[in-house]
Amino acid sequence: CGIIGILGKEPVAGQLVDSLKRLEYRGYDSAGVATLEGGVLTRRRAEGKLKNLEAALAKAPLMGTIGIGHTRWATHGAPTETNAHPHASEGVAVVHNGIIENFRELRQELEAKGVVFSTQTDTETVAHLVGQGMKEGLSAVDAVGAALPRLRGAFALAFVFEGNENLLIGARKGSPLAVGYGEGEMYLGSDAIALAPFTSAVAYLEEGDWAILDRNSVEIRDEAGHVVQRPVIRSSATA
Ligand code: GLU
Repeated sequence: CGIIGILGKEPVAGQLVDSLKRLEYRGYDSAGVATLEGGVLTRRRAEGKLKNLEAALAKAPLMGTIGIGHTRWATHGAPTETNAHPHASEGVAVVHNGIIENFRELRQELEAKGVVFSTQTDTETVAHLVGQGMKEGLSAVDAVGAALPRLRGAFALAFVFEGNENLLIGARKGSPLAVGYGEGEMYLGSDAIALAPFTSAVAYLEEGDWAILDRNSVEIRDEAGHVVQRPVIRSSATA
C-alpha cells in the first residue's frame, strides 16, 4: 500500500525502511525491499510489521545503493512472506499498489508459455510480463513500455533491473506516484510524505504516465509514449 524507490549514493536499505514507516498510516500487512549490489538483485521480505523486515535486514543486510520498497495491503493472495513484494522475474523486480484486474488472463497466457508462478498475487503477472519481454530481447524500458498497455485496473508500480544500477522506472494509473528530484539522487514515492526526508522537489505523475529515472535525469512519458513535462513542485511536507 506504499511504494518507495531510491537511486542513491549510499546503501539505501535503511532509507527505504524509514520511508516505508512514513507510509504506515495507509495500513499494511507485510513489507519488503530489494536492492542491487554489484548488479545483483537481492530481496528481503517479511510478514507483519516493519520491525520484522528490519530484523531480517539486521540478520542479512543489503548494501545496494539503488532499491525499491513496499508495504503491502493484500488484495490477492494471503499476507505471507512469499506473497510480499517485491516480486521478481528474469532480472526485474517490481512493487505494486492497487489491483491488476485482468491478472487471471495474463497469468494463463504466461503459464501457456511455460512461465512458472511462485505466488498467488496479481502483481507477479507484471514481473513476468516485463521479464518475458526482456528475455525476448527488449530493453528494460521497452519491456515496461510494452507491458503497461496490457494492464487493466489501478496501479502504481516501481521497477529495478538486474545489471543496471542506474535505472528506476515508475508508472501510475489509478494510484498516486510522485518523482522526487535530488542532487545526483532520484526517488519515486507514493506521496510527498514518503519523499520528504530526501527532497522537497516533487513532480506528481498524471494518469497513464510512466517515468524513467537515472541519478541525474528524469524522463516522463504519457500513456501514448510521448515525452511530457510535469511541474516540479516545492512540497511543503516536512521531514
Ligand atoms: N494487489 C497487490 C497484492 O495484493 C498489491 C496490494 C497493495 O496495494 O499493497 O499483492
